[in-house]
Amino acid sequence: MTRPLLGIRDLSVSFATSAGPLTVVDGIDLDIGVGEVVGLVGESGSGKSVTLRAILRLLGRSAHIGGSIAWQGVDLAQLPEPELRLVRGREIAMIFQEPMAALNPVLPIGVQIEESLETHLGLRGRAARARAAELLTMVGIADAKLRLAAYPHEFSGGMRQRVMIAIALAAGPKLLLADEPTTALDVTIQDQILKLLLRLRRELEMSIVLVTHDLAVVAQSCDRVAVLYAGRVMEVGPVDEVLRRPAHAYTLGLIGAVPSSHKPREPLTNIPGSPPSLAALPQGCRFAPRCSFVEPACLMGRLEPRALTPAHLSSCLRSEAVLARSKADIGEPA
Ligand code: SF4
Repeated sequence: MTRPLLGIRDLSVSFATSAGPLTVVDGIDLDIGVGEVVGLVGESGSGKSVTLRAILRLLGRSAHIGGSIAWQGVDLAQLPEPELRLVRGREIAMIFQEPMAALNPVLPIGVQIEESLETHLGLRGRAARARAAELLTMVGIADAKLRLAAYPHEFSGGMRQRVMIAIALAAGPKLLLADEPTTALDVTIQDQILKLLLRLRRELEMSIVLVTHDLAVVAQSCDRVAVLYAGRVMEVGPVDEVLRRPAHAYTLGLIGAVPSSHKPREPLTNIPGSPPSLAALPQGCRFAPRCSFVEPACLMGRLEPRALTPAHLSSCLRSEAVLARSKADIGEPA
């Protein structure tokens, strides 16, 4: 990893419910390096989107955030709300799965970009209009000056996501949080948006945290990936290592469920069962009830990630056995 830009330590998020506090993220450590794209992947309910939103404390009043989120010498988990507002959008920006929900349908998109420029940079009038057109051009929208007058409904889904990216990048943030930004798009447009994000990362020297449930998106766009399950990190490391040689039984299961162009005849192997209820978690490894590698030791105590290499960590007690299976699957000697 490059020099850390963001350092998350022992992050926990719980929500107040009528049955008492429900913990949905439980002790996550994660660093994001300068210029790095880090994927957070997992099934729904794994805590990936909640982790992303916790970085900017965008979780509503019923959420309680514990642990620390180190950013430029401050702890975002503790920062008073008025100061955090200066970080949101200006230093760390966010884009969402459904841009229509974030865009105002009754305002031209030029006005919406200019609002962001005024809020974060104090730009107004002609200067804001000119910068808004530059931003639209930067995200690949042709005839930018003319398109500033268009309304969100006049754009396709992919174009709306480009507009959202332009708004998010208006203040030149150093970190972009992207919550399933391509999930609602068809595959061709998804590919274009991912390529756009990677180009902007390079040109603007920005880091990106990308939440997705899609391993193909991770493979295409991320430098490192953290695999989450039931609120905890199961495995984290460089994408090539984690996807080619997974060292956690859950990661191996996720990969086995994805069709591979290299082995088109290979049958897909679905992970049996479904993720546990966060209100009734199993003892020990949270993946144990679904795991074909399980042994009695897996059911005792909390499993912390351990380093297989300096950059590759797995919380699986049987990571060596999983790794041997991973290598056998790709035809490498164990
Ligand atoms: S720790 Fe045990 S139960 Fe959990 S994934 Fe590894 S082998 Fe399976």
